[in-house]
Amino acid sequence: MRALRLLDWKSEPVLTEVPEPEPGPGQVVIRVGGAGACHSDLHLMEDFEAGALPWGPPFTLGHENAGWVHAIGDGVTDLRLGEAVAVYGPWGCGVCARCQVGIETLCENPGHAPVPGGGGGLGLDGGMAELMLIPSSRFLLPLPEGLDPVHAAPLTDAALTPYHAVKASLAKLTPDSTTVVIGVGGLGHMAVQLLSAMTATRVIAVDTKEGALALAAERGADLTLVSADDNAAAIRDATGGRGADVVLDFVGADSTLAMGAAAARTLGDLTIVGIAGGSLPVSFFSVPYEMNVRTTYWGTRPDLAEVLSLAARGLLRSDITTYDLTHATAAYRALKAGEITGRAVIVP
Ligand code: NAD
Ligand code: ZN
Ligand code: ZN
Repeated sequence: MRALRLLDWKSEPVLTEVPEPEPGPGQVVIRVGGAGACHSDLHLMEDFEAGALPWGPPFTLGHENAGWVHAIGDGVTDLRLGEAVAVYGPWGCGVCARCQVGIETLCENPGHAPVPGGGGGLGLDGGMAELMLIPSSRFLLPLPEGLDPVHAAPLTDAALTPYHAVKASLAKLTPDSTTVVIGVGGLGHMAVQLLSAMTATRVIAVDTKEGALALAAERGADLTLVSADDNAAAIRDATGGRGADVVLDFVGADSTLAMGAAAARTLGDLTIVGIAGGSLPVSFFSVPYEMNVRTTYWGTRPDLAEVLSLAARGLLRSDITTYDLTHATAAYRALKAGEITGRAVIVP
């Protein structure tokens, strides 16, 4: 079968032929319906050095996947052939204290058998192929009625990640609060919708691109700002001088983190989602009093079930551009050039 594989660090992926996977005991093979192209894949292609991680290429890209059950290994009793499923992508050991409560992102035995390191599309073979091996049926969630795998794929990361971040700040997202979303691309356009579906906060979206801001406005942002030096002042003006209760930074560059901190309110939350590699000096007087600065990583298995039900109820929709496998590298080039609005999804 064909697969889009990263053959080495610091390289573009290549479409190659690989053997079809077969499920061992407890495993499942899915026919991939959609595999989202995440900006993190560009970081994988460009930023990592050999030896930086305990695992590495070659592997098939695609860590944001949904499809249909294609083959079932011995001992799997909870799925049926042809069933539409979303893939929970952070693959932990399944037995540590974190995994037991579904927080497989923070597995305390990473690389533990039967999942040796990385996760599908992040060290192990991902979904940019006709078929994908899933090491345990617990990583598959049946798609609720009305959701198709092509639109569901981005829910497993582009929506799951901001969902987890928003949930962590829910207590601060009162109806009189303001939330700033910096970077309204694949993840950010979902964040805007999640904030509207889960809270009554006022949403301010910031992006360098007019097209991204137009989509954010259409999906519920109350105010949009083109990225500029006076963004923090404009956010203070728009909040009667108080600042934003919650800032979600989907870029994570020095400049966006500095803007987020300058725009935040005392007792606010500044959550770093984007991995552009910027940093924010934090000291007693450098950020608003009692402001919380934190990172966030992907989401939990229960979070994914909740995201799927939001989408099934029509409260969350992925805005997608589809590409076939032959044009997957073109999708990544377009993502890099800032030409994708919403999410690019590869449809093998
Ligand atoms: P994307 O390319 O689809 O969207 C990024 C958006 O940010 C674009 O609309 C772009 O125009 C905008 N942008 C870029 N620079 C900006 C700036 N200086 N100011 C304002 N806006 C700016 O990317 P994505 O797939 O949504 O991913 C966003 C980031 O989140 C990436 O760094 C990705 O690696 C990271 N990510 C993190 C997690 C996690 O678990 N923390 C999960 C997935 C992705
Ligand atoms: Zn991702
Ligand atoms: Zn674990």
